Amino acid sequence: MTSAPKQTVTPFLVEAESESGVDYGILMRDFGTQPITDELVARFEKVTGHRAHPLLRRGLYFSHRDLEKVLDCHEKGVPIYLYTGRGPSSDTMHVGHMIPFIFTCYLQKVFNCPLVIQLTDDEKFFWKALELKQARMLARENAKDIIAFGFDITKTFIFQDTEYIKEMYLNICEIQKRVTFSSVKSIFGFTDSTSCGRIAFPAIQAAPSFSSSFVKLLGDKQRYCLIPCAIDQDPYFRMTRDVAPRMNELKPALIHCKFVSGLQGASSKMSSSIPNSAIFLDDTPKKIKAKINGSKSGGGETRELHRQHGATIENDVAYEYLTFFMEDDDELKRIHDEYKAGRLESGEVKKILIDILTPIVQNIQQNRSVVTDEMVDAFMAIRKLDAS
Ligand code: ATP
Repeated sequence: MTSAPKQTVTPFLVEAESESGVDYGILMRDFGTQPITDELVARFEKVTGHRAHPLLRRGLYFSHRDLEKVLDCHEKGVPIYLYTGRGPSSDTMHVGHMIPFIFTCYLQKVFNCPLVIQLTDDEKFFWKALELKQARMLARENAKDIIAFGFDITKTFIFQDTEYIKEMYLNICEIQKRVTFSSVKSIFGFTDSTSCGRIAFPAIQAAPSFSSSFVKLLGDKQRYCLIPCAIDQDPYFRMTRDVAPRMNELKPALIHCKFVSGLQGASSKMSSSIPNSAIFLDDTPKKIKAKINGSKSGGGETRELHRQHGATIENDVAYEYLTFFMEDDDELKRIHDEYKAGRLESGEVKKILIDILTPIVQNIQQNRSVVTDEMVDAFMAIRKLDAS
């Protein structure tokens, strides 16, 4: 009997032995999450009155916890809020980070609800070779990237942990009291030599899942939280959901996306920590073109072989990126079929991606160029949010 290829998916590392990347079926089984079925997507469309986002209808958002409960709330007019985040490890985000933010922006419109965005500058200080001052500065720089996605300021609160911690501290203490070292050890793989900053941090990522951490912004009525994120973040919220009932809090719901692969192939995700794996949001068109042209291809080794056998599409990074960024479903299908049959070549698929991704990144750059420090302060101001 051959065993399944090994894979590691944690908030700190995503690595798959298989060339075609993470086996998400196995991951859902291991994590205990639910698949997003066609029926659930149909219910989402019915309840919200909005067409499912391409990321949802293409199965790139593929797994969830309690999404039905969020839809029940929306159906009954019970207000919810959204929570997502970013660990400021670099001064610019990469196109992989765009996915949760693009989708969160869509969900904010669909549910017309408040959104809180956590910048974990403390976490990156604990985990990376960064001074606290640097991590705090990177959080503000990343906030500018995030604002460039077009979030509605009247309904959006961006906060960095080292500033907002006091407002969440009661909840953090309640969580820390209830989660044992043995539990975080088994969830996150901590050891005796892990710093206590790292060990205490999961409670800080958990706290925003409870609306009582945002009384001044959301009011004091308890409400459901929906967390859009890539599935590597799920362990934090498994811990949160476990502790929630013991604090008389509601378990947060989650909707998980797949990873945008690194340029070198699907065996690891695009990450700021892996050199040359990422297209950054401040890359020039020339750099984007060079990076895409150098990305791992699933095309045949020679033109002849490619025509004969077609592309191994699951190992092709450019095609994978198109599934995330191309809007036109019919055109995507055409590219899929033609490439797989060997009638379209790797270089042509890369060119299509360059033509699609470059203006998307340029648009973010344009938006970001007008984001001022005052705008960052305004998004970070503690105030009552609309639609709350
Ligand atoms: P990096 O190593 O690149 O800094 P990270 O995992 O530390 O990445 P975070 O800032 O902690 O990134 O993540 C912010 C959000 O972006 C999370 O929801 C995370 O799951 C998601 N994310 C990070 N990398 C990717 C990727 N390659 N594809 C899709 N989503 C991603």
